[in-house]
Amino acid sequence: MGIATVNPTTGETMQVFEPLTAEAVDRKISIAHQAFQQYRRLPFAQRAEWMQQAAQILEEERERWGRVMTLEMGKPLAAAITEVEKSAWVCRFYAEHADQFLADVEIATDASHSFVCYQPLGVILAVMPWNFPFWQVFRFAAPALMAGNVGILKHASNVPQSALAIEEIFQRAGFPEGVFQTLLVGADRVPEIMVDDRVKAASLTGSELAGASLASAAGKQIKKTVLELGGSDPFIVMASAEINTAVATAVTARMINNGQSCIAAKRFIVQESIADEFTDQLVQRYAALKIGDPLLPETEIGPLATPAIWQELQEQVTACIASGAKLLIGGDPDRLVQANPGLQRGNFYPPTILTDLPIDSPARQEEFFGPVALLFRVADVDAAIELANSTPFGLGASAWTQDLAEQQRFIREIEAGCVFINGMVKSDPRLPFGGVKRSGYGRELAAAGIREFVNLKSVWVK
Ligand code: NAP
Repeated sequence: MGIATVNPTTGETMQVFEPLTAEAVDRKISIAHQAFQQYRRLPFAQRAEWMQQAAQILEEERERWGRVMTLEMGKPLAAAITEVEKSAWVCRFYAEHADQFLADVEIATDASHSFVCYQPLGVILAVMPWNFPFWQVFRFAAPALMAGNVGILKHASNVPQSALAIEEIFQRAGFPEGVFQTLLVGADRVPEIMVDDRVKAASLTGSELAGASLASAAGKQIKKTVLELGGSDPFIVMASAEINTAVATAVTARMINNGQSCIAAKRFIVQESIADEFTDQLVQRYAALKIGDPLLPETEIGPLATPAIWQELQEQVTACIASGAKLLIGGDPDRLVQANPGLQRGNFYPPTILTDLPIDSPARQEEFFGPVALLFRVADVDAAIELANSTPFGLGASAWTQDLAEQQRFIREIEAGCVFINGMVKSDPRLPFGGVKRSGYGRELAAAGIREFVNLKSVWVK
């Protein structure tokens, strides 16, 4: 379909965009490169003033921007508005803290004065996904711009209006021309942008395939990348857990963003002694979820973002069942539409739970990007950790237990970029965020995030 807004609730094509020509891309990179020469010299206070202004525009117009996202990718409007507010938060966070995170650090050596300082790199390319169309971009842009870099955005092809909205917000906030630009281009154009000498580094959030492709192009040019890729995160519930809270959180953790979040809990690993009770409660709550038009306030689950995502999920579920997995609820989109004819034209998928996955099922190694939970039973903490670590991914794990020794085991032994004990995994500007294994490398957010795209320069003076 190229670059276009197609409403996932109705299937209606709302707007189609022409991709930029090679000349237009070149012009924009040139403007960015020029802008950097002045922008890098500005004091933090000036950049912070504009970043605070961007936050204010987001907050004042939260409903407008929320609607843009909901119409493009189908997340419930209330969640979209919350995402706009969170994007404002990350702008304010870096406006307030960038100068401390990037202050010179004195180090005693044999010099009369030695220290490290942090300097911006230049034009940074951001390749971003559609699932959090604002948050993913702002969590890249707020630290990058506060550090003195300039950004060019290649957003996912199904969220062009979000991409243009973000460019507009930074312009209206007062940032000089060229400091943040959107490039409406397809994925096939990323390598040519990456090899451009004026582009110094890149951040990509998306699939493993996209990450590997960008990192290969960047590697050939010896350019730095930060990759935030997929996940198949565990949600572990041990016998001592407060089960009602754990089940309620399990539903939110899987269903957030219509099930399309990298850090959504995707594998539920439950201790045998409480597994029946946990399963019964989970199935009941899944059955009660309200699926429908994401613009309606009562809707909890909207459509999947594109027909291709729907198709892939359906194939994964069908393959699981064929390999011997047991379906506890959902799994049949036709039945969903028969019961709710109004959903016929959208990419709606029913909340689904699968269990008893055979040990050799390929699905155990895959990410399910939609409202599908995989349920496993384990005997004890050793088995829980082994199963949790048995995927190629390692983004964010959630473990539920009151037992302090078990908590320590999960904290120390789970292979993931973050571990949340008795809580749902979430991103927070104050905490570094990122993955290990095939979930990627590098960190966003917090001090670590703003230090990814800077030259840490050591200075020695006698
Ligand atoms: P995707 O297909 O990889 O798309 C993400 C972005 O990469 C889009 O802008 C896309 O452009 C571009 N892209 C695709 N193929 C590319 C290639 N070969 N070279 C360069 N760029 C390429 O991923 P998605 O399906 O939209 O997003 C879902 C994935 O993102 C999931 O795996 C999810 O877990 C992951 N994710 C990770 C995080 C995290 O923080 N770790 C956060 C959110 C999502 P086009 O749209 O033009 O194809």
